[in-house]
Amino acid sequence: MKIGVLALQGAFIEHQKMLQTLGAETVQVRLPEQLDDLDGLIIPGGESTTIGKLATEYGLVEPLRRFASAKPTWGTCAGMIFLAKDIGVDRQPLLGLMDVKVNRNAFGRQIDSFEADLPIPAIGDEPFHAVFIRAPIIAETNGDVDILASLSDGRIVAAQQGHLLATAFHPELTDDTRLHAYFLDMVAERE
Ligand code: GLN
Repeated sequence: MKIGVLALQGAFIEHQKMLQTLGAETVQVRLPEQLDDLDGLIIPGGESTTIGKLATEYGLVEPLRRFASAKPTWGTCAGMIFLAKDIGVDRQPLLGLMDVKVNRNAFGRQIDSFEADLPIPAIGDEPFHAVFIRAPIIAETNGDVDILASLSDGRIVAAQQGHLLATAFHPELTDDTRLHAYFLDMVAERE
């Protein structure tokens, strides 16, 4: 299984290490042709405006859109924003594939970052220790989007729509590999 990690900006090395721990072959993606033989792709957290700007400069927006339309793709934090169809008023390049409305920086300046033990039934009974950094939330889901996790106040922070996975937090910054394993299962099922 060969998984790409979009490596324009942000926390791509941590995703790569976690995938390697699970035995997947990984590639840092910076060029359109590097998508050609991948089975899945992770779009990391970072700054979605920067990722969008660099993806535009590198001619990657359309190839990424094509890839993620067909193959398992997981966006974490900024990557989740980049995958979304709707982010409200902001104008920035998006892949616009997942039927969710995402609010950027949903926790404001005062709670810039926080951690929470999050129940995610799809990966097991044990809560997932989730690290949120200037995190977005999913304000609305449409169509056949499944909600995978919500905070105790009901705000949605993880969802799946078929081969697309989105998490508002940073699973690559913990040593819990369950979400990466879940994504690799999605990829394996697709093959
Ligand atoms: N606040 C960032 C954005 O709007 C996302 C933060 C993150 O990826 N940790 O793109």
